[in-house]
Amino acid sequence: REQKQPVLITGSTSGIGLAIAHTMARAGHAIMLHGLTSPEEGEDLQRQFRSEYDIACGFSNADIATETGCAQLAADTREALGNPGILVNNAGVQHTAETHEFPAEQWQNILAINLSAAFFLTRDLLPDMRANDWGRIVNISSVHGLVASQQKAAYCAAKHGLIGLTKVVALENADRGITANAICPGWVETPLIQPQIEAIAREENIDIEAARTQLIGAKQPLPHATNPEAIGELVLYLCGEFARTITGTSLPVDGGWTAQ
Ligand code: NAD
Repeated sequence: REQKQPVLITGSTSGIGLAIAHTMARAGHAIMLHGLTSPEEGEDLQRQFRSEYDIACGFSNADIATETGCAQLAADTREALGNPGILVNNAGVQHTAETHEFPAEQWQNILAINLSAAFFLTRDLLPDMRANDWGRIVNISSVHGLVASQQKAAYCAAKHGLIGLTKVVALENADRGITANAICPGWVETPLIQPQIEAIAREENIDIEAARTQLIGAKQPLPHATNPEAIGELVLYLCGEFARTITGTSLPVDGGWTAQ
């Protein structure tokens, strides 16, 4: 049964979410794509997934910065694929600034998308998972859910919070065949980290490649960014039968960042 459960992956039009969608589709799951992109781009992506993997595929561009937007995404998913037995809370945004001058609207936005949306979607989808006695919830947190870096007050608060939410959901549903886990990536090569690479290149007057190496090496003993596909494979593993006793965990994929 679990092999063919539809999967909702938030923020799956780009980066890590898109890689997770490819991995899960390749394994035969129906996929609900989601992200802030045009309906035309959403159509193109769906066509690509249906033809490449021969699976059912839906798309929603609901803005999940609000509770209403989250409800819309859940409704769009049910309409396209039925109840998803697997939820991957992946959508996330970043803004860097010192705490004493952090813009209030950026704080609210980061908390809303990186944390509250995961709560609203989990709350919405759990009753059907519980009725089914099976479910998988994977929250894409970050090393910044485990440790801090300067200039990331909102992001660290949201990602630490997401790990707390993961643990509570795991405990409450441990007797219902439902697991909840967090994945904590270090640097992953996606558009999210580009502004941080460009800022270093500008400030240090070095090229983009040197800036990338500097950004990654400053935190990771193993100085390579993780491929987004590696996160997809871990999600697939957590959704499989061998992972049924893995719940409430936070799994770093971080080149040794949090071992220090
Ligand atoms: P990305 O910028 O490539 O993709 C983000 C996705 O979220 C996009 O599909 C975007 O449309 C969607 N999104 C953003 N705001 C939204 C909103 N209001 N409503 C609906 N969708 C919205 O980012 P990524 O690097 O793939 O990051 C994915 C997740 O992984 C995030 O939660 C991020 O914090 C986390 N993460 C990333 C890294 C990294 O190094 N890239 C490291 C650790 C954790």
